[in-house]
Amino acid sequence: MPKTTSDRVYLYDSTLRDGAQARGVDFTVADKQAIARELDKLGIDYIEGGWPGANPNDDAFFAAPPTLHKSKLSAFGMTRRSGRSADNDPGLSDLLESGAKAICLVGKSWDKQVKSALGVSVGENLRMIGDSIKHVVKHKREALYDAEHFFDGYKANPEYALSCLMTAYDNGARWIVLCDTNGGSLPFEVGDIVDAVTKHIPGTHLGIHCHNDTDNAVANSLSAVQAGARQVQGTINGVGERCGNANLISVIPNLILKMGLSTGVTTEKLTHLTHVSHFLDDRLNRSPNMHAPFVGSAAFAHKGGLHVSAMAKDSTSYEHISPALVGNERTILVSDKAGKSNILDRLKQFGISVKPDDERVGELVSEVKQREKQGYAYEGAEASFELLVRRLLGTVPEYFEVLGFRVIGERRYNAKGKLVNISEATVRISIDGEEILTAAEGNGPVNALDGALRKALIGHFPLLKDIQLTDYKVRILTPDAGTKAITRVMIESRDSKGHVWNTIGISANVIDASFNALHDSVTYKLLHAKK
Ligand SMILES: [Zn+2]
Repeated sequence: MPKTTSDRVYLYDSTLRDGAQARGVDFTVADKQAIARELDKLGIDYIEGGWPGANPNDDAFFAAPPTLHKSKLSAFGMTRRSGRSADNDPGLSDLLESGAKAICLVGKSWDKQVKSALGVSVGENLRMIGDSIKHVVKHKREALYDAEHFFDGYKANPEYALSCLMTAYDNGARWIVLCDTNGGSLPFEVGDIVDAVTKHIPGTHLGIHCHNDTDNAVANSLSAVQAGARQVQGTINGVGERCGNANLISVIPNLILKMGLSTGVTTEKLTHLTHVSHFLDDRLNRSPNMHAPFVGSAAFAHKGGLHVSAMAKDSTSYEHISPALVGNERTILVSDKAGKSNILDRLKQFGISVKPDDERVGELVSEVKQREKQGYAYEGAEASFELLVRRLLGTVPEYFEVLGFRVIGERRYNAKGKLVNISEATVRISIDGEEILTAAEGNGPVNALDGALRKALIGHFPLLKDIQLTDYKVRILTPDAGTKAITRVMIESRDSKGHVWNTIGISANVIDASFNALHDSVTYKLLHAKK
């Protein structure tokens, strides 16, 4: 059992910073805000928003941070530069001006790195750490010290590595985070070293930050917790540079269900874990990893006669936990029942009460499964899901009827010899028997179509002025043998009150798919304006 007295482990997510370093990850500001909101809902204690002053994207995020109810927003940066005072360090000022309540400062703890990478004396490095932490604390922010290369530094020179930690701790850092920066450590080494550190700093002030270069980031994190550390840093689905970071989606259920520890994620929230994992994949335009532990669709799938009959007798024979604990479901045996309880759960969230034995629930389950086969992904398109449900239950009015649309794309050189792309869209709709025809130009087909559709509707529904399309994602889904490729479009919309909703459209034609997603976005806005 962990010897630290507290059973509470704090979770620190760095998806928006470390995760953004991964290949193929390119978060928009809207992505970052949406991900932060999901993490907040899940109950993550700290969300690292990025590095203020490092790039325009991070600056835009901190300039308009999402409203968080549970999580504390953290900003990442460096200790002061050598030869400057903390008061005059531009990096530290950017951090303080970001408005983040917590500030995580990375600094060196390996004497070799201090000399070779920083080119300063070991004494000056300690002063840089101490001054910077003191400065953050003086400005009433929670200070975290990220000890870069700590495990390598400790192996090379334990006294110096420890003195870096002590300097940060003595100057008021709330957390001392031990980083396995190159991801080369193994679980037993991490356990031994964290254990040694707890002789100097209580585990309730120690954090662990692991990279996955030996495929041990989760194991290393658990080992550190076992040795007493009480903060774990990681990312959703383990996204991060090189081989990734510690995967919080695995760390969290292991801490709660296997180690009996508590986190900000309650057992109720833990059932949202699968959703959060898939949500990030949808945002990244990736297919979820089917074989991901806990949350993958294969994690509790049983195939083959022997397993299935053994499962029927005792589910623990091939399942280490009940899939429902993490919001996943067993497939094969009782997929229908599990699907039903899932749908009933979602209906409750929308404020719709239906009896479990209502036959429409069964119809909904098969409709959703059918659509998922076609390529719909509702994890990242809650608004379209709600509309689907409400349409099947017969509670969405038909505000307008689309009679047709046409889009023309043109590429030409203008009078000045410059290449221009112009799209023009016409939309024909009918509202209460009145036919309306409108046209609009745009810098692309979807932009033109959006313009024409809204122009057609705005006379009857002025509130549609208050929609902004904030994100647009297209994905060509790998076709099954013999069928044509399908295009999936996801659109994020937002209104001036800060409401954000996501919709989805599917078609063989990208413009048609986009129109379907736009149609849902507008309908959703109209539906919720009525209340
Ligand atoms: Zn890292």
